[in-house]
Amino acid sequence: MITSFHPPQRTLMGPGPSDVHPRVLSAMARPTIGHLDPAFIDMMDEIKKLLQYALRTDNPLTMPISAPGSAGMEACFVNLVEPGDKVIVCQNGVFGGRMKENVERFGGEALMVQDTWGTPVSIEKVRALMEAHDGIKALAFVHAETSTGVRSDAQALCRLARDYGCLTIVDAVTSLGGIELEVDQWGIDAIYSGTQKCLSAPPGISPVSFSERALEKASNRRTRVPSWFLDTNLVMGYWGGGQKRAYHHTAPVNALYGLHEALVMLQEEGIEHAWKRHALHHEALKAGLETLGLSFTVTADARLPQLNSVQVPEGVDEAQIRARLLENYNLEIGAGLGELAGKVWRIGLMGSSCTRRHVMLCIDALENTLSEAGVSLPSGAAAAAADVYYSAEA
Ligand SMILES: *Cc1c(COP(=O)(O)O)cnc(C)c1O
Repeated sequence: MITSFHPPQRTLMGPGPSDVHPRVLSAMARPTIGHLDPAFIDMMDEIKKLLQYALRTDNPLTMPISAPGSAGMEACFVNLVEPGDKVIVCQNGVFGGRMKENVERFGGEALMVQDTWGTPVSIEKVRALMEAHDGIKALAFVHAETSTGVRSDAQALCRLARDYGCLTIVDAVTSLGGIELEVDQWGIDAIYSGTQKCLSAPPGISPVSFSERALEKASNRRTRVPSWFLDTNLVMGYWGGGQKRAYHHTAPVNALYGLHEALVMLQEEGIEHAWKRHALHHEALKAGLETLGLSFTVTADARLPQLNSVQVPEGVDEAQIRARLLENYNLEIGAGLGELAGKVWRIGLMGSSCTRRHVMLCIDALENTLSEAGVSLPSGAAAAAADVYYSAEA
């Protein structure tokens, strides 16, 4: 007979999901109530307010889509791209390629700006393409490319899009909660994120937000939105209607309790403090990893603190190291994705997985595991290098 499932106790330091805080897990274990219950509707309104806080926006259309980050991506493209629309899509990793897919599947024409994986989106290339084409409707790019660990200059890209009168569609799945992100101040028009990266809530929900300009485009379409589930006009009847909420779908009630709690925790900490925390622990981890002889894929000026992509040393079996970390330390780190598969490890410091304990565990476990695999390393030096960043704190 099959019995209850009890997952092993892992420490999650990959590209997401990140460790979910016990407060969030216990919030999710509270009794399920009806999704049209007045108490639930009040909680939905609080989630919207908390998301506005996290995204730094006053956009009334700010809500969580009841599906993972990929659905948030699709919600943005399906509402804002019409057949024949020209959209500039920037690709410098895996996720830009998915944006291209979205544009094309909804009948748009994707004008590609390609940059080497591990480097930021080139502002100059985007500008050149905008100069060369008339009638570009939108600029789409990934703020924090999780496949490589690179940060692009979202503020400059949004300013450029404004100068040329086109909308921006921004992937902030990994950036939200981990690095500075200013939806209103930067003039982002459509943004989607995920819950399982720096928000450290369970996976399966995608916060999205649309500006006034994006809403105008969505409500003045020539053609009907080709998705029923993701049509913002319909979803907003559910998320925007206050106590007069219209049934659209059944929200994932307990998962939303979890998101609510994770956002409350973020508000308690303060979003700016969360950004600083990610930067601090990244510095400590970096010092340790470099002492272990590991080099970063991305140059320091464009590195994401929450996603540390490091080269696998020559002659080391990367999958075997990850397997041993999991087996001996219950520690999960990420493998390379796409072009970088087999070449890098991706070490996440996201949300609840961004603490001193995580940094020290990772360095210690990697040092021991690499030593066992025959890499010669000075014992304890990496931990000491990381610890320097904490001595000022204590
Ligand atoms: C994780 C991720 C996604 C996809 O999110 P899912 O919740 O896995 O669907 C999209 N974009 C980026 C940059 C991501 O890191």
